[in-house]
Amino acid sequence: MTTTLGTASAGPGEIDTGRLEVGETRDGSSVGLPVAVINGERAGKTLYMQAASDGDELNGIGVIQRVVPRLDPAEIAGTILIVGIVNYHAFQLAQHRNPIDDTKMNRAYPGNESGTSSERIAAATFAPATSADLILDLHQGSTSRMIDEVRVRCGKRHRLHDECLELAKVFGCGYVLDQKGPDGQLARAAPNEGVPTVDPELGGCVGWDDSSIRKGVEGVFNVLTHYGFLDGSVSSEPQTRARGFDQYGAPGGGLVTFRKELGDRVGSGDLLFEVTTPFGEPKAEVAADSDGILWRTRRLPQVATGEYVCSVATDIDEY
Ligand SMILES: [Zn+2]
Repeated sequence: MTTTLGTASAGPGEIDTGRLEVGETRDGSSVGLPVAVINGERAGKTLYMQAASDGDELNGIGVIQRVVPRLDPAEIAGTILIVGIVNYHAFQLAQHRNPIDDTKMNRAYPGNESGTSSERIAAATFAPATSADLILDLHQGSTSRMIDEVRVRCGKRHRLHDECLELAKVFGCGYVLDQKGPDGQLARAAPNEGVPTVDPELGGCVGWDDSSIRKGVEGVFNVLTHYGFLDGSVSSEPQTRARGFDQYGAPGGGLVTFRKELGDRVGSGDLLFEVTTPFGEPKAEVAADSDGILWRTRRLPQVATGEYVCSVATDIDEY
């Protein structure tokens, strides 16, 4: 059976790329998101994958760029649908939010066909996403520094919670944040349509980070193998799971020095960071409120009072 996504159309054993139209730019040119359809020679499940839903998060594009040339439709059972760049307008400017409506794309799902720019892009991608059996929404911690992890956003009472947790474990970054997400996230909206969805968060960087991209590539192939798109087997490793997420801000203005490394275990009361003046004089010290793992930090050292400094994931276990 031929599978179509936008102008990309592939019969069994074929691969095609094209554009998924989502409106026009300010000069009236048509906007088409780059899409690919990989239609396996044999029947099987459908995987939907997308990247750059936040326009400055490029690692997911790096993953797709490395995965697609390695896929041979003759060896695949099932279909892979890919939107390579979701947040078209933000990507052009290398910024996080869609500049047309100043919206974060991953708060706009499931979208609205006659809504704002972001809502229309959300609707145009939600339709093929929820036609699939599994969804990977490739993100990263924006341009902050962050560990590689996978987010389960449906919430622990959701009927697909176990399926989403399994998908996160199979992807296998080593860390999972299992916490109900805010309204409008694809990884929260799509499970309501019955599709297990996770949001791999591949590090955080300006531009591309090779080690996070490699983990993402491995994760995609783990998923393709575990769910039967590719022959073979993968053994899932136990994942370190966090169910809480505490954010820390600066008590005063100055320069931040971290006293823990990303990925370090922290105990309640452990020093996380110091703030100093430009002359090295101590201004403030901030300690962890609870046990956890240093998960994400700001990239630039300078902070104003109250400005975001870091996040500690809490309520840690293994599964
Ligand atoms: Zn993101």
